[in-house]
Amino acid sequence: MPRIRVRLDALRDRSYTVEIRPGILAEVPLLLSRAEGKRRVFVITDSNVTRLYGSEFASRLAAAGCEVALLEVPAGERSKSSPTLNGLYTRLFRGGVRRDSLVIALGGGVIGDLAGYLAATVLRGVRLVQVPTTLLAQVDSSVGGKVGIDHPAGKNLIGAFHQPSAVYIDPEALLTLPEDEFRNGLAEVVKIAAARDAPFFANIERNAPRIRRENTALNAKIVETAVALKASVVEKDERETGLRRVLNLGHTIGHALESSGGFALKHGQAIAIGMAAEARIARELGLLPPPACLRLTGLLEALRLPVDPPGTINERAFMSAIALDKKSDVTGTRFVLLRRIGECAPGVPVPADLIRKTMGLVSRKSKHG
Ligand code: ADP
Ligand code: ZN
Repeated sequence: MPRIRVRLDALRDRSYTVEIRPGILAEVPLLLSRAEGKRRVFVITDSNVTRLYGSEFASRLAAAGCEVALLEVPAGERSKSSPTLNGLYTRLFRGGVRRDSLVIALGGGVIGDLAGYLAATVLRGVRLVQVPTTLLAQVDSSVGGKVGIDHPAGKNLIGAFHQPSAVYIDPEALLTLPEDEFRNGLAEVVKIAAARDAPFFANIERNAPRIRRENTALNAKIVETAVALKASVVEKDERETGLRRVLNLGHTIGHALESSGGFALKHGQAIAIGMAAEARIARELGLLPPPACLRLTGLLEALRLPVDPPGTINERAFMSAIALDKKSDVTGTRFVLLRRIGECAPGVPVPADLIRKTMGLVSRKSKHG
């Protein structure tokens, strides 16, 4: 059974285990009631996940002797908002939340971020267990402790670091995931492989034709490797002061595409386009050999992820989003760029004209002569 330990050396009590096993969803209630005792449990989930897994999950917890409240929010990014969060605080207080209560995030990245922020802040923090049910949440957002909500000014602008006390991942939950949500998660898999692990990247290349929602055994392996890689980065740099920035590969352009496009693109699509564009930038800067750039684009295409910039980009909104990137400092926007498959260089300054050219944006100056 794959078990990955996330070690946080300075604060040993915050280390936690990620358990990955097909079918584990049905066992989590019993595992939890054993590990946690009979404390009060709040399961946060969304309308789709309640129907598929949430109701049964809550019944099993109750059967195991926990006092359970199942709290459902509407599915979708709009629930990662302060009104939804406020509603949840109210339901927790009415439900008698105490410092020793447990919050369980059962769902995709939206639920993980929202329930995680709820757990980080209610009564100055209660314990959190992540039970991610989308590929994106399984390979990326459920591990590492970043939690938060959106603000009208932008995505993920309000948040905290709140590590879970355990993460349980069931690759069988992917069987019900819509196809485009599955591919969305694959983009984060390609990201972590390209950034950190050349053999894993080659492995995904070989297996690309067999990667499907239904291939639970293969998915379990992929999730396990991706989580181990993410854990090794988070262990070394929990708060993103250095190494953790490599997890932003493809995300500078990806985020700018998402926000300038009014969030019509899904996150995975945006970062696939972002990774392909940033690889071309790295090639133009002489950092990345052209064959490696082709390999990255080829793998994204083999996984049926987009690699070309959308036909219409709001240039002003896009370029100002780039400038507002969280990695920006007084010296301008710095990119995480690939040096070769499996290794990147963080903090590379990129001239604005090269960004425009790569994205097919003709700057006004050159348009008029
Ligand atoms: P993400 O995980 O990509 O950040 P969401 O949390 O919004 O995004 O999840 C994406 C969509 O998939 C939501 O509509 C959610 O209700 C749905 N969903 C989550 N897990 C499953 C699952 N295992 N099967 C089917 N649908 C799911
Ligand atoms: Zn991402």
